[in-house]
Parts: sequence; C-alpha cells; structure tokens
Amino acid sequence: MTDDQLLRYSRHILLDEVGIEGQERILASHALIIGAGGLGSPAVLFLGSAGVGQITLVDNDVVDLTNLQRQIAHTTARVGQPKVASAAQAITAINPEVRVTALQARADAALLDTLVPQATVVLDCSDNYATRHAINAACVRHGKPLVAGAVIRFDGQITVVDPRDAVSPCYACVFPPDAAFEEVQCSTMGVFAPLVGVVGAMQAAEALKLLSGAGPSLAGRLLMLDGRAMEWSTMHLNRHPHCPVCAALK
Ligand SMILES: [Zn+2]
Repeated sequence: MTDDQLLRYSRHILLDEVGIEGQERILASHALIIGAGGLGSPAVLFLGSAGVGQITLVDNDVVDLTNLQRQIAHTTARVGQPKVASAAQAITAINPEVRVTALQARADAALLDTLVPQATVVLDCSDNYATRHAINAACVRHGKPLVAGAVIRFDGQITVVDPRDAVSPCYACVFPPDAAFEEVQCSTMGVFAPLVGVVGAMQAAEALKLLSGAGPSLAGRLLMLDGRAMEWSTMHLNRHPHCPVCAALK
C-alpha cells in the first residue's frame, strides 16, 4: 500500500478484524454488482469508498426523476443518463483508484456466465424475481459468494449464499424458482427511501466481510426488516435436498 492508501483506509486498518491484510484483500478484489438503483447505490458507494479494487456494474436502465427519492448515487443533472455511467461517476468522485466497468445491459444467464467467474463476490441489487434467480443460479454454477438484498414498501431482507460451503443453502432452496409469484415492484407498491440505504449498506458490509475475512457471514440466515416497527427478525435457512439449482451440484 502507498502512503496515501494507508491514510485513506486507516480506519479499516485500525480494526483488528480487517487490518492491513484484510484491506489488501479488499484492494485486490473484484465485486460484481447487478443493479444500480436503490440498493446498488449505497452498495457501490461503500464498496468503492472502502477500496474494492475493481467493480463491475450492470444495469439496463437510465436515471429517471422518480429514482432520485432513494437512489443516492444519481443526481438531478444526470437524469436521462445510463444508471451505470451515473453511478460510476459517483464512485470515481469518492475514490478515483477504483477501476469501474459500467455495463448498460440486462443481466441474463449468458452475460452472468461471462461476468460471475471473474468476480470475487457478487451483489444482487436487482428488483425482479427472474433476475434474482438467474444471479443465484450463476453463483452456484461458478462457486461464487452472493449477497442478496430486497426492499419493497416498508419491508427489507438480506441473506448470503455461499456455494463454497457445502451445507450452505442457495436462494432457490428458500424461494423456489418455479413458484407462482406475483411480482411486486416499486413503481406500483412504493418504497420507503431510507430502507434501500439500510439494506444496500448491509449488503456492502457483508461483501466487505466476505472479502476481508472479518467475521462470519449471513450464509444460512435470512434477516427481515419490518421498517414500520423497525424490528429485525432472523430466519435460519436449510438446504433443500431437492433444490432444482444446487442439489444436483452437491
Ligand atoms: Zn439450492
């Protein structure tokens, strides 16, 4: 690390759980973030500020006025720009050392099969069920840890899928991909702005823990936030023996 890096990351280096070695691992890592919206904004800003060496951002959308209530990486001046370009600009303003790859694309199985193997950690900051399952399946196929978050209205949830751990459940063990599911989206249901900040920042925290080796991850636990009562609950998750995604691989 250079003298400037020792200063920039000094508050991490002071932590016994991170230290110089943990910070070196963060600097050498590559985070793949799917979604540059409400969850992706705080996630990418914290991963960038904390010194993740390389970040690949994938999102198909452009910044819209209705996004600005909660998607804090974007600005009024950047309405109409691709979200990935806007978020890349925000990261670079905080930490110009981060190498950001901005892909304006939909995260389908083919793209994920190209990107996931190159990543050290994957963050699901997407907003729909099909993409969540495509990301989970790609992470299981390629043995990469996944931090999955979701927020709608006043409700949030977060978990970690770690296929490197043989007993760790995947997202499809808990939420079957073939289940009849009524998609609920922010555009129709609304979303309480700070909750995407809470969950997105927690996704960054779990990713940085996985990268640096600080503390046990959320693998095997689903945290659920009721933002009205401001209460967390924890559900312990088990692998489903007939999971269509991970059972055949283990
Ligand atoms: Zn599974």
